[in-house]
Amino acid sequence: ESKIRVGIVGYGNLGRGTEASIAQQPDMELVAVFSRRNPDSVNIINPDVSVLHIDEAKNYTDKIDVMILCGGSATDLPEQVPTFAEMFNTVDSYDTHAKIPEFFASVDKVAQASGKTSVISVGWDPGMFSVNRVMSEALLPEGETYTFWGKGLSQGHSDAVRRVEGVKKGVQYTIPSEKVIEQVRNGENPDVSKSDRHVRTCYIVAEEGADTAKIEQEIKTMPNYFADYETTVHFITEEELKRDHSSMPHGGFVIRSGKTGEGNNQIAEYSLTLDSNPEFTASVLTAYTRAAYRLNKEGQKGAKTIYDVAPGYISPKSAEELRRDYL
Ligand code: NDP
Repeated sequence: ESKIRVGIVGYGNLGRGTEASIAQQPDMELVAVFSRRNPDSVNIINPDVSVLHIDEAKNYTDKIDVMILCGGSATDLPEQVPTFAEMFNTVDSYDTHAKIPEFFASVDKVAQASGKTSVISVGWDPGMFSVNRVMSEALLPEGETYTFWGKGLSQGHSDAVRRVEGVKKGVQYTIPSEKVIEQVRNGENPDVSKSDRHVRTCYIVAEEGADTAKIEQEIKTMPNYFADYETTVHFITEEELKRDHSSMPHGGFVIRSGKTGEGNNQIAEYSLTLDSNPEFTASVLTAYTRAAYRLNKEGQKGAKTIYDVAPGYISPKSAEELRRDYL
């Protein structure tokens, strides 16, 4: 059987992780990497794979089955995913939670018309955590769901701070409240909002002569990303950033604490401990690339979320093998 032919659009941390992840998939081959930058300046892992300018992608509609879009959520994906869904099946990890309904609608409109399939907003959150929230709430209708992130570096939020005027470089950590985690694991169901469960800390390298007070204010008031959280902004040097903030660990957990029957406590927990956030997110993207390919073959066009894709579609094994080996 021939392999699923895959392309990558955008080569940052996630693009690089995706290249590595495709190499681990038995049924996929990477055809080309597309970037907005000069292709000669983009150094990918495998020198045998072509790097092309993004404008060349339109010449690959019959050579690529699924495009994995690895741009940033703040400005790249809202523009790139609808554009590519006109020509290709797509997968992305768009993570601005509050705007997902709007993003879904704009991608769905294009993909319905083009007959392509676009699996949107897969990764770990949104993604694996979203699935676990829905499953545990369906199983335990009476109770509370708690999502904790970190401690970890959030790519989406780091991407957002780097787009603030006067910011040269920057990273953002999300840190869960230890006290709240303890209460949840004890089945106490504390009444705390999402924003009280975590704090956000940013480390910023400002451009020379930039107004740091203005940068701090702009970050702290950024809607969806920071406005509802307790946020701290530290200004550091480029050397400090490189020395102390170069790795990209992350993780977290989804806990549903519910009661059933005659008052028994039931706690369901899903957790991830990730040495590399982009490499794990990329692994989710490639698994759902298989789903996008299969769904499109079945004629299931339009935008899909992780809730629309049955788990068997992401496995390289057949339905028969899954019944035999895993049930
Ligand atoms: P990056 O900032 O590393 O890359 C984003 C884009 O910027 C790239 O696609 C690339 O586009 C461009 N770029 C990268 N490096 C350079 C450079 N040196 N100079 C100029 N441009 C560059 O972001 P990440 O890859 O870390 O993350 C992408 C998105 O993934 C995040 O915005 C986040 O929303 C999402 N994400 C989602 C998760 C989830 O669980 N759903 C988890 C983690 C991330 P080009 O090649 O075209 O220039």
